Amino acid sequence: MDSLYLTLDFGGTKNACAVFVANGHGEFRVESLERRASPPDPDAKYDYATMLDLAKNVLRGRTPTAVGVSFGGPVRASRGLVVLSHHVAGWENIPLRARLEGEFATRVVMDNDANAAALGETHFGAGRSCSSILYITVSTGVGGGWVLNGEIYHGATELAGELGHVVIDPQGPPCVCGRRGCVEQLACGPAIARRARARLAREPSRGKLLRARIRDDPSLVTALLVNEAALAGDELAREIMQDAASALGFALGNVICLMNPQRIIIGGGVSNAGPHYFETVRTAARANVMPQLRDTVDIVRAELGDQAPLWGALALVV
Ligand SMILES: [Zn+2]
Repeated sequence: MDSLYLTLDFGGTKNACAVFVANGHGEFRVESLERRASPPDPDAKYDYATMLDLAKNVLRGRTPTAVGVSFGGPVRASRGLVVLSHHVAGWENIPLRARLEGEFATRVVMDNDANAAALGETHFGAGRSCSSILYITVSTGVGGGWVLNGEIYHGATELAGELGHVVIDPQGPPCVCGRRGCVEQLACGPAIARRARARLAREPSRGKLLRARIRDDPSLVTALLVNEAALAGDELAREIMQDAASALGFALGNVICLMNPQRIIIGGGVSNAGPHYFETVRTAARANVMPQLRDTVDIVRAELGDQAPLWGALALVV
């Protein structure tokens, strides 16, 4: 029988499940995929039951060769343990790998979503041909994962890659981690929206195109609308997007000096902002590295989109 890989993506606001099959030439394709958006207040029991249901639908009675799991929150990958979920209650210290091994009677490998996506992009996406990459996701938060010499680098206590909480402005806005000026608070989607609201209030004669998009209601501002207004020529919106991209690029400059990676891959919703965004990130990174490192790294957009955790889960097991 052909190898059949079951992959699970516990995404916090949605759950997804896919079966991948190999074509015999080392390539894989999605054979079937199901996702389900979560209700407003899901708990761990809901997530787990939903995932088993989705798995039943995609497996159709077949037994998987192995199961790969991407979890949206901190995990102890080496022990197969979920530490917690920032979105879903009840995941604290759950031995997810052991439970799934019992459920499917086969090998299970799990990791957090950023590490899984980093490995997925390395094998199947924008990092093909690279052995050392940093993957960053910029969406409602900023997360990251390292692949060094072809393997995920977890760090001493499995928290490596937390670029979102690298401080780049000690006087900057307060962060959920208790400090100020973390990358996340300057570069993620909600940070872009927050900054836009403040600037619109402070500069009443600017931001005409952005104001039209939100019908003058600041509560409707999103990073997506700020970017649309920027692309349509709104100067204020353009400055806000540039500030966010520059903050990220500045942080990446520090990373490049420290780790000299081959490639940096940016995914998540904000990475859809367009070529201007990436140009600003690259320029800011380049300005913040020593001359010898200036042209050593590509900063590129991720290729796997919202399927990155599933391809990552596949990369964990193959
Ligand atoms: Zn922080």
